[in-house]
Parts: sequence; C-alpha cells; structure tokens
Amino acid sequence: MRLHRLFWLVCLLLAVTVLVLSAHIVAIEWERADRASRGLEAIERLRHMLVAAEMASRERGPSNGLMGDRVPGGDPERVARLNEARARTDAAFHTLEQALDVSGHRRDDVSAAVRQAARDLAAGRDEIGRIARLPRAERRPDDITAAIGRMFLVIEDLSLGLTRLMNEAQAAYPRASDALSGARIAAELREQAGRLGSQFTVALTARQPLRDSERIEIERLRGRVEQLRQLLVQRTAAAPERTAIHGATHVMLSRYFGSAMPFVEALTVRGRSDGNYDIDAAGFAARYVPDMDAIVELRDVLLDQALSEARVGAVEARTALFWISGGGLAALGLLGLTLWVVHHRVVRPLEETTELIVAIARGDLDRTVPEPRHRDEVADVLRAIGVLRENSVARRALEDERQRLVEQLRDQSNTDFLTCLPNRRGFFTLAERQLPNLQRHGYPAAIALFDIDHFKQVNDTWGHALGDAVLGEVARRCQLHCRRGDVIARYGGEEFILLMPHCDLASATQQAERLRAEIESTVLEAGDAGVVKVTASFGVAECRLQDDTLDPVIARADECLYRAKRQGRNRVVAHDAG
Ligand code: GH3
Ligand code: MG
Ligand code: MG
Repeated sequence: MRLHRLFWLVCLLLAVTVLVLSAHIVAIEWERADRASRGLEAIERLRHMLVAAEMASRERGPSNGLMGDRVPGGDPERVARLNEARARTDAAFHTLEQALDVSGHRRDDVSAAVRQAARDLAAGRDEIGRIARLPRAERRPDDITAAIGRMFLVIEDLSLGLTRLMNEAQAAYPRASDALSGARIAAELREQAGRLGSQFTVALTARQPLRDSERIEIERLRGRVEQLRQLLVQRTAAAPERTAIHGATHVMLSRYFGSAMPFVEALTVRGRSDGNYDIDAAGFAARYVPDMDAIVELRDVLLDQALSEARVGAVEARTALFWISGGGLAALGLLGLTLWVVHHRVVRPLEETTELIVAIARGDLDRTVPEPRHRDEVADVLRAIGVLRENSVARRALEDERQRLVEQLRDQSNTDFLTCLPNRRGFFTLAERQLPNLQRHGYPAAIALFDIDHFKQVNDTWGHALGDAVLGEVARRCQLHCRRGDVIARYGGEEFILLMPHCDLASATQQAERLRAEIESTVLEAGDAGVVKVTASFGVAECRLQDDTLDPVIARADECLYRAKRQGRNRVVAHDAG
C-alpha cells in the first residue's frame, strides 16, 4: 500500500476512535451533570414539600384552638391567627406547586400526591369550620377527632411524594444521604410531635380526662417521638462539634426534649387523673408549639447541609463536564494538528522527493530540485538530491564528450586525411552496411576500382606536393559527379574505389566512363611549370548473388583494372559475366 493511502487510513481510524471515545466519555459526564442538576432540583422541591407539610401541620394548632373555643365561630383573635396560619400553608403549597409545575397537568406520583394533599386540606378546613360554628356543647369529640384526622391525611398524602423526591436526591447525591434522611426524620419528628400535641385538644376543649384511646395514642406517639429522637441523634452524631448541625441538635434536645416533653408528660399525668387542667387548648398550643420550632430549625440546617453538598456536587459535575468536553475537543484538535504536521512535513515531502529521485534515476535531469521550506531532515534529503542531480548532469556531460570524441576518432580513423574521402576501412564500413540490404532484395550493385596512370611520374616531375594536390582534385571531382547513395573512397595510394548501389554492370560502366572523362579533363595549374593533366584506368565488376562479401567483387574489378592498364590505360574495362 502506498504511504499516503496508509496515512489517510490511519488518520481515519484514529479520528473515529478518538471521536467515539470522547463522545462516550462526554455522554457519561453529561449524564452525571444532568443527574446532579436533577438531584439538586429534587432537594429544592423536597425542601418546599417539607415546608408545605410543616405549614399544614402548624395549621392544626390554631384549628384545634378554634374547635375548642367557647364562642361559636371562634374568638376573632383566634380566627385571625388561624387565617394567618392558613395563608402561610396556602403560600407554601403555592410555592410547592410552582416548583413542581403541578399546574402543567403533570401526572407523576409527586404531583398527584400534592393535588391529593390540597384536596384533603380543603376538606379538613371545611370540617373544622363546620365544627367551630356549632355551639360548644354540640361539638362531638368524634367529629373533632375526624377533623383532626383529615388534617393528618394531608401529611400522609405528601409523604408519598417526599419518599419519591428523597430517592431521587439520594441517588444523585449519595454523599448528602445522611443529611437528607436526617432532615426527613426531623420533619417526621416535627409531625409526630404535632400529633402528640393534638391528642390533648379534645380533652382540653371538653375539660375532661384523657380518654383511653387518647391515652393509648399519646403513649404510642411518645414512643414514636423517642424512636425518632434516637434516629436523629444517630444521624447527627457524625457532625463535628461547633457546626450548625451540632448546635441545632443541641438546641432541639434542650428545647423540645428538655422543656416541651416534660410539659407534655405533666399534662398527661393530669389527663389521666381528674382532667382539671390549668391551661386551655390555645394556651397549650402557645406553650408547646414554639419548642417544636427547634426541630424545624434542625431540619432546615440539615437541608442546608444537603443542599450545599449537592451544589458542590453539581458544580463538580459541571466542571468535570467542562474539562472533559474541553479535553476531548483539545485532544481532537491536537490529533488533527499532529496529523496535519505529519502530512505536511513528512508524508507530502517524502512523496515529492521520492517522485523527484525516481525522475532523476530515470535520467530526467531537467527537473529542478525545490528549495527546502524548513530546516529539517527533508531539507537535508533535498540538498542531497540536488548534489546527486548535479553529479548526474556532470557525468552525462562527460559521457557526451566521450561519445563525441569516440565518434570523432572513429570518423578520423575512417577518413583519409589528404582527400577527406573515406579510407579503405571507412569504405568497407559504409559499403558492407548496404550490401546485405541490396542482396536481400535482389537489387543490382557494382564496384569500380580505378588508379591514376603513371602517377609516379607526376610525383617525379612536379613534386610530391603537387601529387597530393592532384589526388585531392581527382577525389573532389569524382565525389562531385557521384550519384546520391554511391560510396567513393580512397582505396590506397593513387587508387580509388566506388560502390554503385542499384546499378547494373552497363550503368556502372557508363558511370565509370563519365568519371574517367572527368579525370581526363582535369587540368591543374602548376605555376610557371605549366599545367598538369592526369588520366585513370577503371575496372568495373557487378555484384553477384553468391557474393557474401565485397572481396570477390573487388577482386574481379581489380582484375579488370589490371587489364585496362595493360590495354594502354585511360580506359574502362568491365568484367565480362561470361
Ligand atoms: P601505373 O600507370 O602503372 O599505375 O603507374 P604508376 O606510376 O601510377 O604506378 P606506381 O605503382 O609505379 O607508382 C605509384 C606512385 O604513386 C608511387 C607513389 O610514390 C605515388 N604515391 C602513392 N601515394 C602517394 C601520395 O599520397 N602522394 C603522392 N604525391 N604520391 C603518392
Ligand atoms: Mg597504383
Ligand atoms: Mg597508378
């Protein structure tokens, strides 16, 4: 696989892996942050619900007071107190409904519980109002108990929603679990303490001893209150000294259990005997209810603790989400940057340099080596390629020069210096190149061998230099009158040879005759000594099919030349086929 393909494949796999991993981690953190914020909301709602339950519970005090009032319809001051209590309950319910978005027709358990509680609250109030309007003598203890029971129902209705919200909050914040269950126990303690107080309403209103059922209920509630106290003390025991929880627990123990409970116990003793109480229902409420506030304060402190832990948890979850998302993005960015750098600085330069080296290796030396863009290993490679290319260029120039010299030498060794015609070796090189082609196609060809007559005399008479000039002039003229394709050469001394391709014996003889006449007509000025004239004798022979080389043809031409000399020179003798 090519490197760049492998690179893009690795990029793709890396990007997909990092994306999937990051998305998975971010999704987990997102879920954690979402659960944290939902848990925080659950605690806020829990607080609203506990307050609503508390207010409904508090409303029972003035309600009981009104039912125990001597005046039908109630003392205006007490009615005003009850209305205030009811307004506080209504406000708490309103806040709770807003927090739960109950008006939005939500059909979950919590909203259903709140709606049921509101219905029972309205029914209880109606019942209390009806009883209060009756003359005191007509108020039946069972009706009063039933009305009080209706108000208890409100708290029981809310209890289901409380459990649901507790579970949600504890699931989101296990750390806040102790504080939350402590708050729930405190709220329960406040409720049971309230109910304990309510047990005296009938007896105080009717100014009669406690009935058996009331005594049993009082005992049961005292047991329950004690149980809750122990649970609450256990939950808050872990709180360090001088913290708000520790302080609030201490205040609750001293106020409710140190003051209100002994008061209740004394009243119980009185209720068991003659029922001659030194306090009425309203007075009881005024004495008993404020001490219960210590329980509510502890509940609020515990809720604050849970809320602050939840807020810390929510902030931590959001911070973790922020850093992990940011980290994921940064990792992706870094990965992209790394891959870009690797591609830009390694893969692409490697591809380019590879292509360059391959081109230079193939001999394409016109390619320019690009300037290095960075001071790195690629730059070193590019510089090395530049050096290699220059070396190759120099080596090629040397080779060209050598080739030129070789050709020059070859030309020189094949050329006659004096006449500039091919020498004997040059003739054979040129002629033997043509011969196979002529033979293969059956084309005719002929050889003419000619020799200057009495040339020794020319040398002897006019000097060797003039002899050279004669040789040069004869060569020039013969070359001038040769046909295209003919090969003329100096065969040796004053002897020349001519190959005439595509020429039969007759045409060759004619051509030889033309050359002979040309030589004969050649006149060379010899200065004051006059003029020099020469003649030449020719022997002509045709190539035969059986002639593998030129040697037998030349031999036959030489034979004819000899005959021409013997017959008196300055003539052409053709080889007779017969
Ligand atoms: P024939 O008609 O029988 O050919 O007589 P010839 O004198 O031409 O023949 P011979 O063989 O006796 O003489 C050839 C002469 O050619 C001898 C030699 O000095 C001369 N010769 C050969 N080569 C050259 C050369 O390059 N330059 C000069 N000036 N003379 C040469
Ligand atoms: Mg000769
Ligand atoms: Mg001669």
